[in-house]
Amino acid sequence: KDIPKNILITGGAGFIGSHVVRRFVTKYGHYKIFNLDALTYAGNLENLKDVEEAFNYSFVKGDIAHSDFINELFSKHKFDGVIHLAAESHVDRSISDPLSFVRTNILGTVNLLNASLELAKNNSNFLFYHISTDEVYGSLGKEGFFTESTAYDPNSPYSASKASSDHFVRAYGATYKLPYVISNCSNNYGPNQFPEKLIPLFINNIIQNKPLPVYGDGNYTRDWLYVKDHARAIDLVFNKGKKGETYNIGGFNEWKNIDLTKLLCRLMDKKLKRQEGSSEKLITFVKDRPGHDLRYAIDATKINQELGWEPSVTFEEGLEKTIDWYFDNQEWLDHVTSGDYLEYYKKQYQA
Ligand code: NAD
Repeated sequence: KDIPKNILITGGAGFIGSHVVRRFVTKYGHYKIFNLDALTYAGNLENLKDVEEAFNYSFVKGDIAHSDFINELFSKHKFDGVIHLAAESHVDRSISDPLSFVRTNILGTVNLLNASLELAKNNSNFLFYHISTDEVYGSLGKEGFFTESTAYDPNSPYSASKASSDHFVRAYGATYKLPYVISNCSNNYGPNQFPEKLIPLFINNIIQNKPLPVYGDGNYTRDWLYVKDHARAIDLVFNKGKKGETYNIGGFNEWKNIDLTKLLCRLMDKKLKRQEGSSEKLITFVKDRPGHDLRYAIDATKINQELGWEPSVTFEEGLEKTIDWYFDNQEWLDHVTSGDYLEYYKKQYQA
């Protein structure tokens, strides 16, 4: 019989983290899942309503940038593994407030690494799993792909802070022999994404007949992955990945922003039973983001060959599921944009 293990997931109330928490809580009865989250504007416990009563789940509110708190939490629960997703994650916010990205993404990660060293001393199975982004590799031209050996070349304060945290994780592996894995993933989309990111923002704006702001000439190219496929990859890397390795995760699914926007408009016209072409009229080109990377594209051959992972849905299927979710969860959308979820949190956890 499997011995119970204490697993810490940071940032579990956020977009990707909530899908990872749900997957681990429902799939692994022998893992006790601790979800540590500061509940910033991006963290929302409503994302996890369906698992909050589970016998193997508990929520801890706290800030990874507070080292005393982190050290106490680690010595109390003696985690067997950490899956680290907590981060400031929005590029536009990093341009206006880079220091908060340094604080959470770099200082917070190093606090977790220091606390992990203590536990790894007495537990040879301990694993620190760091979740990162393809944005650390900088920008591609029209050709080529990012592989695990592509040199880091970050251009935004967000990607610079993530690159730094990746380096710290590797350095702790090399210097102190901390067992770790890292994965770098492309753009995620799907249910529960905060409506500041492109796809939920545009779904919401189309519903409300508001303009769809497309940066520059719309030729920026991103690779898109359905969030549940990312959660499945994280599960595989955590449980089957080789220690000390990095895995790139991507959707084999590159889209220019303008083409993605037009596809979304077509699907939304269908959903809203509006005349074809009516949503496209909302497209407005806006001033470019400074330091904007032209193209990201991931070569996910390694995780495919070593761990047998591949995306399970096409982009159109994933987008349709996402659109349906936002239609069925208008209340969620109203809450995350109004701060009502803070009231919810108080009721749930401070009563
Ligand atoms: P998100 O912004 O939706 O969620 C981040 C979560 O971290 C939130 O719940 C927030 O409350 C929490 N958090 C923030 N600061 C904290 C702190 N100081 N202490 C504790 N918790 C804190 O982000 P996401 O899109 O779910 O991304 C999760 C991770 O995946 C990040 O590390 C991000 O860099 C990485 N990633 C994201 C994408 C993407 O497309 N969204 C792609 C690749 C990698």
